[in-house]
Amino acid sequence: MLRAMSTSELNEEQYRAVFHRGGPLLVLAGAGSGKTRVITERIAALVERDVPEDAIAAVTFTNKAAREMRERLQARLGDKADKLRICTFHSLGLAIVREHAGLIGRRANVSVFGVSEQKSAMKSVLSEMKLAADSDQVDRILSRLSLLKSELIEGHDNQLAQIRERYDLLLERMNAVDFDDLMVLPIRLLNEHSDVRALWQSRARHFLVDEYQDSSRIQYQWVQLLVPENGNLTVVGDDDQSIYGWRGAEVKNLFQLQRDYPSLTVIRLEDNYRSTGAILDTSNSLIAINTERLGKSLRSNLGQGKPVQVWESPNPEEEAHRVAGDIRLKRNSTKDAKWDHYCVLYRASYQARAVEIALREAGVPYHVSGGLSFFDRAEIQDLLSYLRLIANFDDDLAFMRAIGRPRRGIGDKALGDLGLFAMAHSVSLLGACLHNELEHKRIDSLREFGDLLVALEFQFKHGEPDEAFDAVLDLTHLEAAIRAEADDEAKAEMRMGNLMEIRRWWIKHAENGGTLAEFLQQIFLKADQKDDDPTGQVRLMTVHAAKGLEFDDVYVVGMEDGIFPHKSALEENRMEEERRLMYVAMTRARYRLTLSYARVRKRFGQKEKSAPSPFLHEPDQSSMRWVDRDSDSEEAKEEALDFMAAMRAQLENIKSR
Ligand code: ATP
Ligand code: MG
Repeated sequence: MLRAMSTSELNEEQYRAVFHRGGPLLVLAGAGSGKTRVITERIAALVERDVPEDAIAAVTFTNKAAREMRERLQARLGDKADKLRICTFHSLGLAIVREHAGLIGRRANVSVFGVSEQKSAMKSVLSEMKLAADSDQVDRILSRLSLLKSELIEGHDNQLAQIRERYDLLLERMNAVDFDDLMVLPIRLLNEHSDVRALWQSRARHFLVDEYQDSSRIQYQWVQLLVPENGNLTVVGDDDQSIYGWRGAEVKNLFQLQRDYPSLTVIRLEDNYRSTGAILDTSNSLIAINTERLGKSLRSNLGQGKPVQVWESPNPEEEAHRVAGDIRLKRNSTKDAKWDHYCVLYRASYQARAVEIALREAGVPYHVSGGLSFFDRAEIQDLLSYLRLIANFDDDLAFMRAIGRPRRGIGDKALGDLGLFAMAHSVSLLGACLHNELEHKRIDSLREFGDLLVALEFQFKHGEPDEAFDAVLDLTHLEAAIRAEADDEAKAEMRMGNLMEIRRWWIKHAENGGTLAEFLQQIFLKADQKDDDPTGQVRLMTVHAAKGLEFDDVYVVGMEDGIFPHKSALEENRMEEERRLMYVAMTRARYRLTLSYARVRKRFGQKEKSAPSPFLHEPDQSSMRWVDRDSDSEEAKEEALDFMAAMRAQLENIKSR
């Protein structure tokens, strides 16, 4: 949804922010006030003022947000936009790590480990240290390690520090980094190498940060390393939308800015251009209950609009059907409406299921963001293990997966021996297969596997991208295995279809001159953020994933005490953050907002009565309408008339087809 907009439509405060010159700038403003737009317009203005594109860097929170910003700028600036660096902190981290890989014991084709690789790596560290741990413990250790790396806990725990050391070494040996490393290693590089710092400072001479309220302490260190005290820093944020406290984001960063950048200019935006008055009255009065806030006012520019609806349903299934039916009806009775103008939000991802089923039954196309990831599927993981190994011969974890898919008659014993040989000769597992001193009775199979990988690597370096890709499916017998294993034709086709999706991406990437290593790094970031681009479909996502987005029509389901607010929030004294999350949910809506709860919900197989969320009672009720409570009210009658009119329109529609 690109809307060409000229700067003449900026309001006075936005204009000041867009054309601000002279040092650090903070735009502190509520939802929908045009903060993200200020960032985009500011970048456009810089380019139009002949600031070199490669001296501008902007970081946003998700890949999706980065893509949207890039698209808007492409529409504005044409080819010039291609040279702009617009990305997430993590992709910026990856770019820095890749470029200076040698300084941290890595090579440029470094692999990025996702959760499952991290787990395997941790398991092997623990077994090497003779520490027994089940899967849950491995998870816990990994999450403590993550906190340690992000400097959210101190490293007093000796054993954890030891584990960290070995884990880091293992990753280094595999030429790999994990997600936290993408944050931490750049800090090390920027701190310890003044030439690296100078280089990136020049590339971030104009540094812009969106959703600043959710940046972490580590990310703030980045900001400080990249932008000197009087530098051109632009950060925009809203303290009321800080929703990642548990991940180390700190609203404190907002205050810290003022201290570290004394010449900071602060601009506040008070006009909201996104939502109707009713939606704003409701969300403003909710967030006003919080005490830890800077306080802002926000007025609507869109008129009062329809009241916020509150729905009661007997159970989550009925609730979902009601939402699905309503979307279908509205979409069919509204001229020009698109499915992707509708969005269903929920607190936790398991809640998507009921909604999905109902939408499918209603024949409504939908897309779940961050659902069971495409990238978690077995066939995708199999394929990626080959591609990772081709790109990085030292990736032992990829080796372990690839060599067993399909089975090559190489058993655990043979692999164990191979591992010992690899350790003794300080080579990777694949390196061991290719080593001329290797002697083993399985040597033919091992060497064959090694040769196969060498051949495939050659193909990827020198052959056509599509042929190289097809060679992987063919020569490794992966395709044959997938077809043989699937119970039926349809399943096999679906799995192959998934691989073809990767093939398409790869070919597009290769045609733009990208390498396989870069491709895998991108896939990794994509898999982590899980946000592809589903146009023409109703959007389903968690509230967290909806940050920064907007939709004409928003439904928030499961508005029950214990679900939203989540019960842990009450227990852990995080109600204010939970309320901010609710504020984020509500302020995604432009014209219509529906909050819905079920009277009974199954928990652990038991039916339990549930109470409506306190967030339904807390806001000023004057712009809200509890539809089922007083079904005979004037407003309900009006609603019924609306409904009839919509039905009639739909009938007309059907007749005229
Ligand atoms: P959030 O806090 O949710 O991230 P935001 O402050 O970043 O919101 P934007 O997404 O930039 O807000 O803008 C909200 C909507 O208002 C967008 O559709 C944007 O195009 C529109 N908008 C912003 N400024 C103006 C303006 N001056 N005139 C008309 N529309 C505007
Ligand atoms: Mg925004």
